[in-house]
Amino acid sequence: MPRVMPIYFDNNATTPCDPRVVEAMIPYLGERFGNPASRNHAYGWEAQEAVELAREQVAALIGATAKEIVFTSGATESNNLAIKGAALYYEKKGKHIITVATEHKAVLDSCHALERDGFEVSYLDVKADGRIDLDVLAAAIRPDTILVSVMFANNEIGVIQPVAEIGALCKEKGVLFHCDAVQALAYVPVNVEALGIDLLSISAHKMYGPKGIGALYVRRGRPRVRLQALIDGGGHERGLRSGTLPTHQIVGLGKAAELCKEAIEGGEVEKIRALRDRLWSGLQAELDELYLNGSWEHRLPNNLNVSFAYVEGEAMMMGIKRIACSSGSACTSASLEPSYVLRALGVDVELAHTSIRFGLGRFNTAAEVDEALAIIVEKVKFLREMSPLYEMFKEGIDLKSIQWEAH
Ligand SMILES: *Cc1c(COP(=O)(O)O)cnc(C)c1O
Repeated sequence: MPRVMPIYFDNNATTPCDPRVVEAMIPYLGERFGNPASRNHAYGWEAQEAVELAREQVAALIGATAKEIVFTSGATESNNLAIKGAALYYEKKGKHIITVATEHKAVLDSCHALERDGFEVSYLDVKADGRIDLDVLAAAIRPDTILVSVMFANNEIGVIQPVAEIGALCKEKGVLFHCDAVQALAYVPVNVEALGIDLLSISAHKMYGPKGIGALYVRRGRPRVRLQALIDGGGHERGLRSGTLPTHQIVGLGKAAELCKEAIEGGEVEKIRALRDRLWSGLQAELDELYLNGSWEHRLPNNLNVSFAYVEGEAMMMGIKRIACSSGSACTSASLEPSYVLRALGVDVELAHTSIRFGLGRFNTAAEVDEALAIIVEKVKFLREMSPLYEMFKEGIDLKSIQWEAH
């Protein structure tokens, strides 16, 4: 029996692969199977041409040149290569790195690994809206700082960092700027020149491409960025990332990048924003005690992260199974810890447990938003009817003033 799949509102976790991307990839799983490194025959040449076209497509999305694109297995690898690769190459210049508490684990854990190797890392706090304070960043930069790594947009709350200002500051101080732009590339114009980015991480499966492929942009001029390779082998990708290039995956990433550029320039992104806004206004019209997590103004157009006070997080997730989305608990592990990102914003533990991330995307419809709205509103009202705390809140009792009896 075919399984009825839920409405997919988890596009910050992964996106469906666009059928046009799949179509572009298929010949490279079939008759065009050549190794792009084979220089002596047409099988190799056609594969290499496909790889170079994809390199141009990825470069065009971010205002770079094709030579600055290094293909990797995904953004986890790109983040590792950017951070560890820069740290190991420039360690004689200094051993201090700056990043932010709300970064993706691939950045944070790369930094933790470097700390074990004698590097020093400053983890900046964020403000209540999820953005860093530029003065705090400026004050953290030291003579021995070699790299600043700040993401473009956060994967949980969609908050966009002041990237251009960070780029300008890093340039002024002569420090490299790495930016994990995975979440932004499908929705926001990104130009590495205008933004002063030296290293930028890309992942195909967050932008309607296939899983298992990504890229790292590595600046070639003003300044020329050097990295220590992490994988040794045949010297592919100018020695920065050895390993036979997965042609079909790379073709998919290239096509995905081309389609994202069209979507951003052609207004498709505004349709996604309208759906997200429809969801948020619909919730606000029917429910009280909703708390938006992270800045509204500086936010990806496809993300909504909201806490539903006075509902039990797990019961809520069970109740809205018709909708595929993520809760603010258990995001990082099998245990029910509240999200470290929400905690960094100062969201209290109770509210963090009731938070839900809705990630809309290219293939969602207004009908899906309306169906989801009806389900969520009904479920929240139902759960709150059973909540004595919500009843007390409605009666105007200040819950914070109550002296709970110890058990
Ligand atoms: C998904 C994600 C990654 C990891 O990308 P993979 O290609 O899955 O390894 C890194 N950073 C951010 C912000 C992400 O959302």
